[in-house]
Amino acid sequence: MPNETKKDIKSLLPAELEEEFAALGLPKFRAKQVFKWLSSGASSFDEMTDLSKDLRAKLGGIYHITVPAVLRRQTSASDGTEKFLWGLSDGNAVESVLMCYDYGNSVCVSSQVGCNMGCAFCASRGGKIRDLRPSEILDQVLWTEKETGKKVSNIVMMGIGEPLDNFENVERFLRLVNCPEGLNIGMRHISLSTCGLVPGIDRLAELDLQLTLSVSLHAPDDETRTSLMPVDRRWNVAELTDACRRYFEKTGRRISFEYALIRGVNDSDAQADELAALMKKVRGHVNLIPLNEVDGSPLKPGDAKRFAAALKERGVNVTVRRRLGADIDAACGQLRKRTMKESR
Ligand code: SAH
Repeated sequence: MPNETKKDIKSLLPAELEEEFAALGLPKFRAKQVFKWLSSGASSFDEMTDLSKDLRAKLGGIYHITVPAVLRRQTSASDGTEKFLWGLSDGNAVESVLMCYDYGNSVCVSSQVGCNMGCAFCASRGGKIRDLRPSEILDQVLWTEKETGKKVSNIVMMGIGEPLDNFENVERFLRLVNCPEGLNIGMRHISLSTCGLVPGIDRLAELDLQLTLSVSLHAPDDETRTSLMPVDRRWNVAELTDACRRYFEKTGRRISFEYALIRGVNDSDAQADELAALMKKVRGHVNLIPLNEVDGSPLKPGDAKRFAAALKERGVNVTVRRRLGADIDAACGQLRKRTMKESR
């Protein structure tokens, strides 16, 4: 953790900020003003021109405002996708990606520095360094808006890290972006992706948020899934799909199952049969992802079109994810990986 002695003000929800300010003898509207400044990406109290100089100095003595540094920015020549590598206050770095669609602009954010889940196909395997704080997840959205001048309407938590392994901070981040006084992004415009931490899925179900949950399945059978995703040894496909079923029953929200197609590993007809049976059980839909090849990995992409057709024949609701930003390593984790390698 970064060891600032001052409090991280941007991680506070409006009600908490009001409480803090009340304890300092400040009226409620001051908290509202400051929250608004923070939500529009203010990087110092001095920018908050509707506060007196004395008050700015006082707040600056108590609170700290996180400010990420743009370490790298890459823009795709083909589709305008933009990828950022953000430097954090303790010298670590995380990535986010801005994707522009007809329906709006979507940012894919990271939730941890590194990741402990160790999925075989992922560029971010190799261990978690630390959890991101709510402010640091929020900064990826705020600074994308600041740097590009584009308004963000959608958020996907599919960057580096396992969001349900950083539950409290991720929940707080979701509530922060959801605040009407802040970015005001509706839960239905937010997706969260997990590798399948069953207790986290149950905990999320209890919150009963209207966000879209994506579950990284990648194989319908434990033999294959265990070989790709160590988490399967802890919670196998049956336990995972039971939790998904419970999630659907509690929230009424259909789950999207991510499936990165890997040639000769998870693309057989028998696996299409098994996947179809699972989708009947959980009432979910499959999002096929063409595997992004990671440097040094022997895993190769399968034929997504063919497998999508096989699933359709079996009555599965399936979409194939469009690839954006292929020319800028937009697959999460790849820019951080490359930059770390170069700096070594
Ligand atoms: N930890 C979370 C979220 C981060 S990964 C999770 O596992 O879901 C976001 C998605 O990208 C996951 O579905 C993950 O399995 C997938 N992914 C990771 N590496 C990939 C690669 N090389 N090609 C295609 N998809 C990949």
